[in-house]
Amino acid sequence: MENFVYQNPTKLIFGKGQLDKLSDEIKPYGKRVLIVYGGGSIKRNGVYDNVINELGKIGAEVFELSGVEPNPRITTVRKGVEICKNEAIEFLLAVGGGSTIDCTKAIAVGATTEADMWDVVTKKVKAESALPFGTVLTLAATGSEMNAGSVITNWETNEKHGWGSPFSFPRFSILDPVHTFSVPRDQTIYGIVDMMSHVLEHYFHQTPNTAIQDRWCEGILLTIIETAPKLLGQPDNYDYRSTVMLGGTLALNNMLNMGYQGDWATHNLEHAVSAVHDIPHGGGLAILFPNWMKHVLDEENAPRFKQLAIRVFGVDATGKSDKEVALEGIDRLSDFWSSIGAPSTLADYNIDESSIDVMAEKTVIARPEFGVYKRLNKQDSVEIFKASL
Ligand code: NAP
Ligand code: FE
Repeated sequence: MENFVYQNPTKLIFGKGQLDKLSDEIKPYGKRVLIVYGGGSIKRNGVYDNVINELGKIGAEVFELSGVEPNPRITTVRKGVEICKNEAIEFLLAVGGGSTIDCTKAIAVGATTEADMWDVVTKKVKAESALPFGTVLTLAATGSEMNAGSVITNWETNEKHGWGSPFSFPRFSILDPVHTFSVPRDQTIYGIVDMMSHVLEHYFHQTPNTAIQDRWCEGILLTIIETAPKLLGQPDNYDYRSTVMLGGTLALNNMLNMGYQGDWATHNLEHAVSAVHDIPHGGGLAILFPNWMKHVLDEENAPRFKQLAIRVFGVDATGKSDKEVALEGIDRLSDFWSSIGAPSTLADYNIDESSIDVMAEKTVIARPEFGVYKRLNKQDSVEIFKASL
């Protein structure tokens, strides 16, 4: 592995009833609080009322930005920035899933600069500071609650980009698995696919000796694969919800990739699809990941695929070539995602050949090549999208 420094400043507050710590956590930052949330799930499941009650305990003056879209938009970020500037907001609280948290991260940085946040998202301008913010997570998926990344979509240019900064870590994140009981079946499935994809993005890299990290990745994958069907059968089971919730956080708090850089080509491909068709992130990943795997697999890199196939999917390697074992592992991954109800073709979202070129172009907007396990270019994107139809 490479030399590394690991620092993650987010305070993780995990478990049943932990929302009652919210008032004490916010108190040091001030009383003018902007809460940011999505389309209203938090009003239906009672989380909103409990948050307001907590804020009341410290006499907070509460401002609200609601309606953050799944795949949050730069227009909503700009609205939030305006509220922060006009109302001298001191602290931001994201209550929701990855979209709400990502949007809040962008607002927090945008509130402290005169630059337009799209220029920060597209890395023309560097983030220099941010307002402090915390999160109350209601959906297990992205890991955004304990990382500094954020993904924002611009519908004027049809672009979806990830960005991050040292100022974009939440000060704290409150994770009560009970808050995820009301997550609908499809979103639960997308979340499971997303967190597994984050582990897989880490897993495919070119750095020697990541023996510990490999086993961490495999352990999380095995546990999610074991728990997911049980959770879908019992959505109100606290133990299953908590296992999946912690899995989502660990999959992308950058612990798994200590000392190396993962691939992330499939996320780049999915962002291109979402930027044109606005599909759920986890749904897109379930379609694209197996096709990325089949596209990059060759004789030379087959051993890593083989390791995954044997250790995670229990493939019997006796008498088979590395590539045969690898392909069997990839099929078992597809079968698992299909078995829990994830989509498997772009046709599931009515996406046909006509948008392949536009989507492929978007995979190389930021740079002509992407991915570290195998460098890919626009033609590779075209081929992976075609195989995914
Ligand atoms: P999401 O887009 O935040 O939420 C999806 C849907 O789930 C929304 O309709 C939301 O409804 C609903 N929902 C959330 N919590 C709920 C609950 N407890 N009960 C009922 N419904 C609930 O989903 P996500 O998968 O967490 O986030 C996806 C976004 O994150 C994408 O833009 C993706 O690209 C990005 N992402 C970010 C990272 C990162 O590290 N920052 C990593 C991967 C992906 P309401 O709107 O009504 O609340
Ligand atoms: Fe993701």
